Amino acid sequence: MIKILIDPGHAPGNTNKGPTGYYEYQGVWTISSYLKEMLENKGIQTEFTRTWDQNPDPYERGQKAAGYDLFISEHTNASGDGRARGVEVFYDYSKPQDVEFAQQLADNVSSVMGNSSRGAKTRVYTESGKIYNYYGVIRGAGATDCKHIFLIESGFHDNADDEAFLKVDENLRKIAQAQAEMILKFLWVNDMTVQEAEKVVKERAGLDDNTMQYLKYYRYGEALLIKLAEDMEH
Ligand SMILES: [Zn+2]
Repeated sequence: MIKILIDPGHAPGNTNKGPTGYYEYQGVWTISSYLKEMLENKGIQTEFTRTWDQNPDPYERGQKAAGYDLFISEHTNASGDGRARGVEVFYDYSKPQDVEFAQQLADNVSSVMGNSSRGAKTRVYTESGKIYNYYGVIRGAGATDCKHIFLIESGFHDNADDEAFLKVDENLRKIAQAQAEMILKFLWVNDMTVQEAEKVVKERAGLDDNTMQYLKYYRYGEALLIKLAEDMEH
């Protein structure tokens, strides 16, 4: 069974807000709740990192991702000057295969918000020659066996246009829906194992062993094989 952990990014008392009354902790709680309901309707076991008034530190939230297929931390953004708009998705730098997943999450949410996609991003720092994910939630989840780890910024609440969108409950449902669509698409694709995908691609496309080897040497070869196999099966 697929298991997903949603992190509603901030707790009551957090002061991140837009110029005309939107509060990030409220908005992301609503998005998280809609997303949970949508995923559960598809038979996916979905949990939160926290209750409404709990406020675990970011690393601790991430660590709860042990045993989950996907972890997503829900946020809305701020640039400081109110000029930036758009959606961006951070992923674990040590999982480069998630770049496409993160990109499509950002693209799909920006298309319902009517702003631009800022795309898939990683953010890291280096300490004593070692690289670490910048965000505590991603670092914490990255220390577990969780397969896909994301932090999504669904719009800029300090931008007048994005804030106006975020203040409408029905729009928060649309954001959750756009996220759910991509999560379902990518997790069901990855339901197929690499071995199963190899077999399908080899047989359907009539490829020889050498060609199969070349495909697997490609950096994203395993993900590509699964994608090809999925398309061939449909
Ligand atoms: Zn935030």
